Amino acid sequence: MIVIENVAVATVDAEDTYHADGHVVVGDDGRIAAVGAGRFPADLPRVDGTGCLVTPGLVNTHHHLYQWATRGLALDETLFGWLTTLYPIWGRLDAEIVGAAAGAGLGWLALSGCTTSMDHHYVFPRDGGDVLEAEIEAARRLGVRFHPTRGSMDLSRKDGGLPPDNVVEKTDEALAATEAAIDRWHDPSPDAMLQIAVAPCSPFSVTERLMSEAAELARRKGVRLHTHLAETDDEEDFCRERFGCTPVEYAERLGWLGDDVWLAHGVHLDDAAIARLGATGTGVAHCPSSNARLGAGAARVRELLDHRVPVGLGVDGSASQEAAHLGEELRQALYTARIRGGPGALNAREALRLGTMGGARCLGRQDDLGSIEVGKLADLVVWRLDGLGHEGIDDKLAALVFGPAAPVELSLVGGRPIVERGELVHGDAETLAREARRAHDRLLRT
Ligand SMILES: [Zn+2]
Repeated sequence: MIVIENVAVATVDAEDTYHADGHVVVGDDGRIAAVGAGRFPADLPRVDGTGCLVTPGLVNTHHHLYQWATRGLALDETLFGWLTTLYPIWGRLDAEIVGAAAGAGLGWLALSGCTTSMDHHYVFPRDGGDVLEAEIEAARRLGVRFHPTRGSMDLSRKDGGLPPDNVVEKTDEALAATEAAIDRWHDPSPDAMLQIAVAPCSPFSVTERLMSEAAELARRKGVRLHTHLAETDDEEDFCRERFGCTPVEYAERLGWLGDDVWLAHGVHLDDAAIARLGATGTGVAHCPSSNARLGAGAARVRELLDHRVPVGLGVDGSASQEAAHLGEELRQALYTARIRGGPGALNAREALRLGTMGGARCLGRQDDLGSIEVGKLADLVVWRLDGLGHEGIDDKLAALVFGPAAPVELSLVGGRPIVERGELVHGDAETLAREARRAHDRLLRT
């Protein structure tokens, strides 16, 4: 057992309990044994958290790790312009490139306070090898709790979709490979380090048949469903022209609303759509920096929360949001909400809740992750807030959310350290950067 003490604690429990000077005790089972104010009265190994704040580990609810290999391209494009520039490059991905990109992306996420990340991988080149295995290996090495999704695309340009023919799969092959990924990798246990979800890519790259059969597959297997929805005006126009309805109406028609579904973005939602998401318990992965980078718009987060929609944060793929820093998304979420709705639209506690408990709900892990409560998994981040960038802000939670990106003093996943004093425990940032650079060069030059 280990005690973290002399530390501010933001528990993100139902009452938002906050201790300006408290402790957290991690048990030998990798779960939280105690949390409270003041010191813990027992003779146990101690970590001195003076100058720090401990929060639940951040949960990343939307990402495309492979995109680390194609950062810095199509910098001034809309989503559709950016995608059509990048699809041909992604058609040359292979397992080595995806492994290097995932290592860099996950290493950077860990250093930004993330302890659990999903990944949405939907490009499977025919001769590219086992790209899903490559990113799972990267997560295992670094110790990050991982929720990769088996994505897919089967609607290419010749059938009225956006992607070129060489990056899509045949519908039956995509479904069979998705089922095989669940059988091989998905761990349903409460302590799981690895869970799979089913994730056809988007309305403009997936057929209606793949969408509806993917939903049936996920429910038959007891895993969750994810896709992109309502990200841009272009997508809304596409849905109205092709399907005669809004993206959310389209999703509902195909069985894609429910408390086992979370949707990436949800930027362009009218009042009726928000009400349907709330009534069905459908989650939203809010990606404010990516939405800003692509000029897609600002999600109506206040309204989503007021309708009890589970909302998590996502960095989105690192080619549409080069910073890819989950800690910074806390501030970006707060700013985005306030640009739309004024200073009362979102506060620091709510921003932290999006990044922790909201994310855990999107991934279906709210019983074991997302808050610091006795019995939950000890996925914790100790943020250092007494350096030049933060010292002098009395409220440590305000310092974390309003201040610059905070250094991670200690990050635990199931009680095991993955970051200590700003360094990866199970990897080397320079090596990861070098491997990512090599992958980028190989992909762009071939
Ligand atoms: Zn995305």
